[in-house]
This record gives sequence, structure tokens and C-alpha cells, in this order.
Amino acid sequence: MRTRIELEEARALMAESVRPLGVEQVSRQEALGRTLAEDVTAPLDQPPFDRSPLDGYALRSADLTGASPEHPVSLRVVETVYAGGVPSRALGPGEAIRIMTGAMLPRGCDCVLQHERTDNGLEQVQIYAALSPHDNYCDRGEDYRTGEVLLPAGTVVDAAAVGVLASAGLSSVPVRRRPVVRVLSTGDEVVSPDLHPLPAGKIYGSNQELLTARLRELGVTDVEGLLIGDDPREVADTMAQLLGECDLLITTGGVSAGDKDIFHEALPLLGAERVFWKVNLKPGTPAMYSLWQGQPILSLSGNPFAAAATFELLARPLLAALTGESRFSLRSRTAVVEGSFPKASPGRRFLRGFYQEGRVSLTGKNDSGMLASLVGCNCLVDLPAGSPPVQEGQTVTVLLL
Ligand code: AMP
Ligand code: MG
Repeated sequence: MRTRIELEEARALMAESVRPLGVEQVSRQEALGRTLAEDVTAPLDQPPFDRSPLDGYALRSADLTGASPEHPVSLRVVETVYAGGVPSRALGPGEAIRIMTGAMLPRGCDCVLQHERTDNGLEQVQIYAALSPHDNYCDRGEDYRTGEVLLPAGTVVDAAAVGVLASAGLSSVPVRRRPVVRVLSTGDEVVSPDLHPLPAGKIYGSNQELLTARLRELGVTDVEGLLIGDDPREVADTMAQLLGECDLLITTGGVSAGDKDIFHEALPLLGAERVFWKVNLKPGTPAMYSLWQGQPILSLSGNPFAAAATFELLARPLLAALTGESRFSLRSRTAVVEGSFPKASPGRRFLRGFYQEGRVSLTGKNDSGMLASLVGCNCLVDLPAGSPPVQEGQTVTVLLL
């Protein structure tokens, strides 16, 4: 087991330890919000035929030389083609075909004149304007051509992408399988937030609620949170059960070095291999990562801010590696500090903050046991090891949540 490692090394160890989740085929509408596992290429040209962009007459530009309201050109109307119909014949010299928006153009025509610039004739039509070849002419494949990559692998399917799939006649697409995540919060002092009144010496558990809600915010739909006490055997048994139904098990609590820091016992009981313990960052230093039959278990400190921050710093990159989905990756920005933070940071430290337009305001309360001040935060400020107290106006790096 590696210990006291840097965050980047922890991420690398996690990424190389997991097998990416597979691919599943889902319907167009089910694909909304999902990540494409493969390039989607066009199986046809769009539009599939040359078509008219307006209501008017399909014409030969060579017939129209000099046409104007004063000197109209008179042509014989040989057919009317409606949208959805197919012309029965090619357009010959001296002929016009009435055509509606979206209708297939006849062979032989090279331009379309809007009906407002004609007398709307049904058998003979007076043409009031000359056109150049290709005027008002929509080519087959002008939107996209057969074989063109419409949506590259990795695209998160949005409404426009669903529309494109429909336009190409594609009923289903391969997407990355969604991760199933379970969150197990430990602690004899931790009780369900629905237990009333609160017994003496107990606290309401918030980690399992916050983390499952956060996972849902990130688009993970199959998530469940559970509470359990500090009995290593029971914890190991429950973990075995949960691992049977999930791709990633996140635990909170019990990873420090106290008497009741039970994961040092529970993980060997389970038969899990510990990959690392303790990451050089605050809050949440004692984070631990293990594998059980190749399945990842990420164990975070129970302190609410530590659990929340290390979820972002460790669980998200792990989810990105598992799923190949960019939504789990963290984006960083530089920002100018509003407010200050009084303590020096001998080790790397993350503070909660609110980032907006290049500025980050710090909340007063940063203790890892404090949760309420996390409300409204949208970033973590990344203070490198050896940082002095943070001052107003200083430039820092922030990770957007
Ligand atoms: P631990 O990591 O188990 O040493 O717990 C650290 C601190 O976090 C203790 O004060 C615990 O009471 C608290 N804690 C543990 N689990 C939770 C939880 N699910 N919700 C809120 N606080 C918790
Ligand atoms: Mg505990």
C-alpha cells in the first residue's frame, strides 16, 4: 500500500486500476444526456434529394434571360410537385414545374423562382425575373453527406444531437454504460436524518445524503446511500453485499488512525487490497483507496467538508476513468481572491469558495467538520504546500465544481 502520496499520484493509481465500464445501445431519446461511445456517421445524405427551399417554379436559368415584370418570359407549366411527391418527368426547355417547399426537384432544372415573382399561372406562367444557375436550389447532402461524422465519440447527447440522429434515421446509438454507485457512511454516532428526536450523543448523518445528491447532480442515476455503525465485521459484510450491485463503492468515516477507524480491519476482513492511504491534502488526508476483485472502493474521511471535497478531488476523476465521461473531470481557472484566509498551509489545502468572472470569494468557515458554509460554493481553491496566509487580491487556482 502506498501512503502519503500526492493527489496527482492518487488519481493516476485509481485511473490505472479500473476497467472502463462497457457500452450499451439505447434509443435516441434515452440517449439524451448520455455520452456516445463511438463516432456516429451519417448513413445517408441530408437532404436525401435535391429539393426546393420555397414555393414557386422549378426552372432552367437559360430560359429566363432578360425576364422582368415589363418583359416577362412565358413558360408552359407541365406538372405540379408537392412536398413528399416525386416529379414524374424531367424539365425540358421552355417548361416550368410548379413546386412546393421541401419537394424533390425534377431533373433538368437548375433554379427555383418564388411564386411572388410570377403571375402564378397554372398552365402557362409569366416569369418576372431572371435567375442564375443554382439560385434557390438546395443540393442533396448540403446538410451532411453519407459517411460524415455527425457526432464524435465522447459527445454528450443534447437536444440538437437527438434531432440530428432523427434526421439521419438512426433509432439507437451506443453510449457508455452509466456507473452504479453506492455510498456507505459509517459511525456509531451517526443516525438517520429521519430519526426524531435525535438521541443524546448522536448526530444526523449528512455525508451519505450529500454525496448521493451530488452524484445525481453529476448525472449518475443509480445511487443509494446507507448508514452503518462501527462494527468492522458488519461493515465488511455490508460492503461485500453492496459491491455485488455497484461499480463503485464510496465509504465515509473510519479511515483515520483512531480506535474506531474500522476500515483498517474491515478491508482485510472483506479481502480487499489497499492501494493507497493518506493523500497530501487538507481536508480529508486519510482518504483510502482499495480494490476488491478489481472493483474500486474509495474511503473518505467522515468530516462533512472533507468528504465533500475529497469526493470532488478523488471520486470525480475516478468516475471519469470508469466512464470515460468528461462531465466528471474538474476544470480549473485562475481567480483573484476576495476576502482572506488567515492560516498558512504547510501542506496542500483546499478551501471552499464562490467563483464568478475571474474572482473567488472565500467563505469564513473552512473547518472540515463544518457543512453549512458549503451552501452556495461552486469551487475549491487549491493552495499549494508551503502557501502563506491568503490575502485579498492574490491570484489563486480554483477547481470548478
Ligand atoms: P471519522 O472520519 O469517522 O473519524 O469521522 C469524522 C467526523 O465526521 C466525526 O465528527 C463524525 O461524527 C463525523 N461524521 C462521520 N460520518 C458522518 C456523516 N455521515 N455525516 C455527518 N458527519 C459525519
Ligand atoms: Mg467514525
